[in-house]
Amino acid sequence: MPELPEVQEVRRTLEPFVLNVAIVGVTVLRKSYIRAGVGTVSALVGRKIHRTLRHGKKLFCIFDDGQVLLIHLGMSGCIDCCKPDVPRRPHTHFSMRLATGFEFRMEDPRRFGGLWHYSSWALAEKSEITGKMGVDALDVTASHFAAWRNMRGRLKANLLSQRTVAGLGNIYVDESLWLARLHPLQVLENIREKHKVSLAGAIRTVLNKSITMGGTTLRDYRNVAQQKGQFAQSLCVYGRAGLPCLRCGNKLISKVISGRTTVFCGQCQRRI
Ligand SMILES: [Zn+2]
Repeated sequence: MPELPEVQEVRRTLEPFVLNVAIVGVTVLRKSYIRAGVGTVSALVGRKIHRTLRHGKKLFCIFDDGQVLLIHLGMSGCIDCCKPDVPRRPHTHFSMRLATGFEFRMEDPRRFGGLWHYSSWALAEKSEITGKMGVDALDVTASHFAAWRNMRGRLKANLLSQRTVAGLGNIYVDESLWLARLHPLQVLENIREKHKVSLAGAIRTVLNKSITMGGTTLRDYRNVAQQKGQFAQSLCVYGRAGLPCLRCGNKLISKVISGRTTVFCGQCQRRI
Protein backbone atom coordinates (compact mmCIF):
# COMPACT_ATOMS: atom_id res chain seq x y z
CA MET A 1 0.00 0.00 0.00
CA PRO A 2 -0.23 2.37 -1.90
CA GLU A 3 -0.35 0.34 -5.13
CA LEU A 4 -0.83 1.42 -8.75
CA PRO A 5 -4.35 2.93 -8.47
CA GLU A 6 -3.42 5.00 -5.43
CA VAL A 7 -0.23 6.30 -7.06
CA GLN A 8 -2.23 7.12 -10.19
CA GLU A 9 -4.70 9.06 -8.04
CA VAL A 10 -1.85 10.91 -6.30
CA ARG A 11 -0.49 11.82 -9.73
CA ARG A 12 -3.89 13.06 -10.96
CA THR A 13 -4.44 15.22 -7.89
CA LEU A 14 -0.82 16.46 -7.73
CA GLU A 15 -0.60 17.78 -11.28
CA PRO A 16 -2.89 20.84 -10.85
CA PHE A 17 -0.63 22.08 -8.02
CA VAL A 18 2.77 21.55 -9.59
CA LEU A 19 2.71 21.48 -13.40
CA ASN A 20 4.55 24.44 -14.96
CA VAL A 21 4.94 26.20 -11.61
CA ALA A 22 8.41 27.37 -10.59
CA ILE A 23 10.03 25.89 -7.48
CA VAL A 24 11.20 28.76 -5.27
CA GLY A 25 12.70 26.77 -2.40
CA VAL A 26 13.63 23.24 -1.37
CA THR A 27 13.88 22.04 2.24
CA VAL A 28 15.30 18.67 3.20
CA LEU A 29 14.08 17.84 6.71
CA ARG A 30 15.45 14.30 6.80
CA LYS A 31 18.52 13.75 4.64
CA SER A 32 18.29 9.95 4.68
CA TYR A 33 14.83 10.13 3.04
CA ILE A 34 16.50 11.42 -0.17
CA ARG A 35 17.82 8.06 -1.32
CA ALA A 36 19.84 9.49 -4.23
CA GLY A 37 20.98 13.01 -5.03
CA VAL A 38 20.63 14.61 -1.60
CA GLY A 39 23.54 16.91 -2.46
CA THR A 40 22.02 18.04 -5.74
CA VAL A 41 18.30 18.31 -4.99
CA SER A 42 18.61 22.09 -4.41
CA ALA A 43 19.24 22.37 -8.18
CA LEU A 44 15.45 22.09 -8.56
CA VAL A 45 15.09 25.70 -7.34
CA GLY A 46 14.12 27.92 -10.26
CA ARG A 47 12.93 24.99 -12.37
CA LYS A 48 9.37 23.92 -13.27
CA ILE A 49 7.82 20.45 -13.40
CA HIS A 50 7.19 19.98 -17.09
CA ARG A 51 5.30 16.67 -16.80
CA THR A 52 4.75 13.69 -14.55
CA LEU A 53 4.94 9.98 -15.33
CA ARG A 54 3.91 6.90 -13.42
CA HIS A 55 5.31 3.41 -13.91
CA GLY A 56 4.07 0.72 -11.55
CA LYS A 57 4.06 2.28 -8.10
CA LYS A 58 6.73 4.86 -8.93
CA LEU A 59 5.92 8.49 -9.71
CA PHE A 60 8.33 10.68 -11.67
CA CYS A 61 8.35 14.49 -11.81
CA ILE A 62 10.25 15.59 -14.92
CA PHE A 63 11.51 19.16 -14.86
CA ASP A 64 11.86 21.62 -17.74
CA ASP A 65 15.66 21.15 -17.86
CA GLY A 66 15.48 17.33 -17.72
CA GLN A 67 16.03 16.81 -13.99
CA VAL A 68 13.95 14.05 -12.44
CA LEU A 69 12.49 13.65 -8.97
CA LEU A 70 11.36 10.06 -8.42
CA ILE A 71 8.77 9.61 -5.68
CA HIS A 72 8.10 6.26 -4.04
CA LEU A 73 5.28 6.32 -1.50
CA GLY A 74 6.30 3.02 0.13
CA MET A 75 3.82 1.92 2.81
CA SER A 76 2.67 5.21 4.27
CA GLY A 77 4.02 7.98 2.01
CA CYS A 78 1.69 10.89 1.41
CA ILE A 79 1.95 14.16 -0.50
CA ASP A 80 0.25 17.29 0.74
CA CYS A 81 0.10 20.60 -1.15
CA CYS A 82 -0.95 23.34 1.22
CA LYS A 83 -0.22 26.93 2.25
CA PRO A 84 3.10 27.34 4.11
CA ASP A 85 1.38 28.60 7.29
CA VAL A 86 -0.37 25.25 7.78
CA PRO A 87 1.63 23.51 10.54
CA ARG A 88 3.79 20.70 9.20
CA ARG A 89 2.56 17.24 10.09
CA PRO A 90 5.03 15.03 11.95
CA HIS A 91 7.11 12.85 9.63
CA THR A 92 7.35 15.51 6.91
CA HIS A 93 10.75 14.76 5.35
CA PHE A 94 10.91 17.06 2.32
CA SER A 95 9.20 20.17 1.00
CA MET A 96 9.28 22.41 -2.06
CA ARG A 97 7.89 25.95 -2.05
CA LEU A 98 6.01 26.76 -5.23
CA ALA A 99 5.68 30.14 -6.96
CA THR A 100 1.89 29.94 -6.49
CA GLY A 101 2.35 30.19 -2.72
CA PHE A 102 1.63 26.52 -2.10
CA GLU A 103 4.07 24.12 -0.54
CA PHE A 104 4.63 20.52 -1.69
CA ARG A 105 5.22 18.31 1.35
CA MET A 106 6.21 14.67 1.45
CA GLU A 107 5.26 12.83 4.64
CA ASP A 108 5.98 9.21 5.46
CA PRO A 109 5.65 7.95 9.06
CA ARG A 110 6.99 4.46 8.35
CA ARG A 111 9.72 5.64 5.92
CA PHE A 112 9.54 2.72 3.49
CA GLY A 113 9.18 5.28 0.71
CA GLY A 114 11.74 7.80 -0.48
CA LEU A 115 12.83 10.39 -3.02
CA TRP A 116 15.51 10.01 -5.68
CA HIS A 117 16.95 13.00 -7.54
CA TYR A 118 18.62 12.56 -10.94
CA SER A 119 20.06 15.17 -13.27
CA SER A 120 18.57 13.45 -16.33
CA TRP A 121 15.95 10.93 -17.46
CA ALA A 122 18.72 8.66 -18.79
CA LEU A 123 20.16 8.35 -15.27
CA ALA A 124 16.72 7.82 -13.70
CA GLU A 125 15.84 5.13 -16.21
CA LYS A 126 18.90 2.99 -15.61
CA SER A 127 18.94 3.45 -11.84
CA GLU A 128 18.73 0.53 -9.46
CA ILE A 129 15.16 1.35 -8.45
CA THR A 130 13.65 1.58 -11.94
CA GLY A 131 15.89 -0.78 -13.92
CA LYS A 132 14.22 -4.07 -12.96
CA MET A 133 10.57 -3.13 -13.32
CA GLY A 134 8.34 -5.11 -15.64
CA VAL A 135 5.57 -3.71 -17.84
CA ASP A 136 3.19 -1.27 -16.18
CA ALA A 137 0.22 -3.31 -14.94
CA LEU A 138 -2.32 -1.17 -16.84
CA ASP A 139 -0.63 -2.24 -20.12
CA VAL A 140 -0.14 -5.93 -19.32
CA THR A 141 -1.16 -8.54 -21.91
CA ALA A 142 -0.76 -12.34 -22.00
CA SER A 143 2.45 -11.95 -24.03
CA HIS A 144 4.18 -10.36 -21.01
CA PHE A 145 3.81 -13.70 -19.21
CA ALA A 146 5.62 -15.63 -21.96
CA ALA A 147 8.78 -16.17 -19.88
CA TRP A 148 6.80 -18.13 -17.29
CA ARG A 149 7.03 -21.17 -19.55
CA ASN A 150 10.63 -21.62 -18.40
CA MET A 151 10.38 -20.18 -14.92
CA ARG A 152 10.12 -21.93 -11.59
CA GLY A 153 8.13 -20.21 -8.90
CA ARG A 154 4.62 -19.45 -7.77
CA LEU A 155 2.14 -17.03 -9.22
CA LYS A 156 1.57 -14.66 -6.31
CA ALA A 157 5.29 -14.29 -5.52
CA ASN A 158 6.02 -13.43 -9.14
CA LEU A 159 3.28 -10.80 -9.34
CA LEU A 160 4.43 -9.17 -6.08
CA SER A 161 8.07 -9.01 -7.25
CA GLN A 162 7.40 -6.23 -9.85
CA ARG A 163 9.75 -7.94 -12.32
CA THR A 164 7.08 -9.26 -14.70
CA VAL A 165 4.38 -6.69 -13.99
CA ALA A 166 4.92 -3.43 -12.08
CA GLY A 167 2.29 -1.85 -9.86
CA LEU A 168 0.59 -4.69 -8.01
CA GLY A 169 0.81 -5.25 -4.26
CA ASN A 170 -1.03 -7.54 -1.88
CA ILE A 171 -4.52 -6.11 -2.40
CA TYR A 172 -4.64 -6.06 -6.20
CA VAL A 173 -2.79 -9.37 -6.64
CA ASP A 174 -5.42 -11.14 -4.52
CA GLU A 175 -8.29 -9.36 -6.28
CA SER A 176 -6.89 -10.11 -9.76
CA LEU A 177 -6.21 -13.79 -9.01
CA TRP A 178 -9.76 -14.21 -7.72
CA LEU A 179 -11.25 -12.56 -10.79
CA ALA A 180 -9.09 -14.75 -13.09
CA ARG A 181 -9.91 -17.88 -10.98
CA LEU A 182 -6.21 -18.63 -10.46
CA HIS A 183 -4.68 -20.06 -7.28
CA PRO A 184 -1.99 -17.87 -5.64
CA LEU A 185 0.33 -20.89 -5.32
CA GLN A 186 -0.10 -21.90 -8.97
CA VAL A 187 3.21 -23.09 -10.49
CA LEU A 188 4.24 -20.62 -13.22
CA GLU A 189 5.44 -23.09 -15.84
CA ASN A 190 2.03 -24.86 -15.94
CA ILE A 191 -0.05 -21.75 -16.66
CA ARG A 192 -1.72 -22.08 -20.06
CA GLU A 193 -2.28 -19.38 -22.64
CA LYS A 194 -6.00 -18.98 -21.89
CA HIS A 195 -5.20 -18.39 -18.20
CA LYS A 196 -2.62 -15.77 -19.11
CA VAL A 197 -5.25 -13.99 -21.18
CA SER A 198 -7.74 -14.08 -18.27
CA LEU A 199 -5.14 -12.93 -15.77
CA ALA A 200 -3.98 -9.96 -17.88
CA GLY A 201 -7.63 -8.96 -18.39
CA ALA A 202 -8.42 -9.35 -14.70
CA ILE A 203 -5.45 -7.20 -13.65
CA ARG A 204 -6.49 -4.38 -15.99
CA THR A 205 -10.16 -4.63 -14.95
CA VAL A 206 -9.47 -4.53 -11.22
CA LEU A 207 -6.99 -1.66 -11.48
CA ASN A 208 -9.16 0.44 -13.78
CA LYS A 209 -12.18 -0.01 -11.53
CA SER A 210 -10.15 1.04 -8.49
CA ILE A 211 -8.76 4.08 -10.33
CA THR A 212 -12.29 5.30 -11.11
CA MET A 213 -13.05 5.06 -7.38
CA GLY A 214 -9.92 6.92 -6.28
CA GLY A 215 -8.08 3.80 -5.08
CA THR A 216 -8.34 1.90 -1.81
CA THR A 217 -8.02 3.45 1.63
CA LEU A 218 -7.54 0.86 4.35
CA ARG A 219 -6.12 3.19 6.97
CA ASP A 220 -4.19 6.30 6.09
CA TYR A 221 -3.97 6.53 2.29
CA ARG A 222 -5.25 9.80 0.86
CA ASN A 223 -4.70 11.70 -2.37
CA VAL A 224 -3.09 15.14 -2.64
CA ALA A 225 -6.50 16.74 -2.03
CA GLN A 226 -6.52 14.72 1.23
CA GLN A 227 -9.45 12.56 0.09
CA LYS A 228 -9.71 8.84 0.79
CA GLY A 229 -10.26 6.23 -1.94
CA GLN A 230 -13.58 4.38 -2.15
CA PHE A 231 -12.55 1.01 -3.64
CA ALA A 232 -12.33 -0.76 -0.23
CA GLN A 233 -16.11 -1.27 -0.37
CA SER A 234 -15.74 -3.12 -3.70
CA LEU A 235 -13.03 -5.61 -2.65
CA CYS A 236 -14.05 -9.20 -3.40
CA VAL A 237 -11.43 -11.14 -1.40
CA TYR A 238 -8.94 -8.85 0.34
CA GLY A 239 -9.97 -8.49 4.01
CA ARG A 240 -12.87 -10.99 3.55
CA ALA A 241 -11.28 -14.19 4.97
CA GLY A 242 -13.95 -16.49 6.41
CA LEU A 243 -16.75 -14.76 4.50
CA PRO A 244 -18.52 -16.43 1.56
CA CYS A 245 -16.96 -16.21 -1.91
CA LEU A 246 -19.05 -13.76 -3.92
CA ARG A 247 -18.97 -16.17 -6.88
CA CYS A 248 -19.54 -19.66 -5.40
CA GLY A 249 -20.46 -19.10 -1.74
CA ASN A 250 -17.56 -21.20 -0.42
CA LYS A 251 -15.81 -19.82 2.67
CA LEU A 252 -12.75 -17.74 1.68
CA ILE A 253 -9.40 -19.02 3.00
CA SER A 254 -6.58 -16.96 4.51
CA LYS A 255 -3.00 -18.20 4.23
CA VAL A 256 0.41 -16.53 4.52
CA ILE A 257 2.03 -16.68 1.06
CA SER A 258 5.28 -14.86 0.22
CA GLY A 259 5.12 -13.37 3.69
CA ARG A 260 1.77 -11.71 2.98
CA THR A 261 -1.70 -12.59 4.25
CA THR A 262 -3.45 -13.97 1.20
CA VAL A 263 -7.19 -14.46 0.83
CA PHE A 264 -8.60 -16.70 -1.87
CA CYS A 265 -11.37 -19.20 -2.65
CA GLY A 266 -10.27 -22.84 -2.46
CA GLN A 267 -13.29 -23.84 -4.55
CA CYS A 268 -13.15 -21.61 -7.62
CA GLN A 269 -9.42 -20.75 -7.62
CA ARG A 270 -8.02 -24.19 -8.38
CA ARG A 271 -4.42 -25.10 -9.18
CA ILE A 272 -3.91 -26.20 -12.76
ZN1 LIG B 1 -15.43 -19.23 -4.97
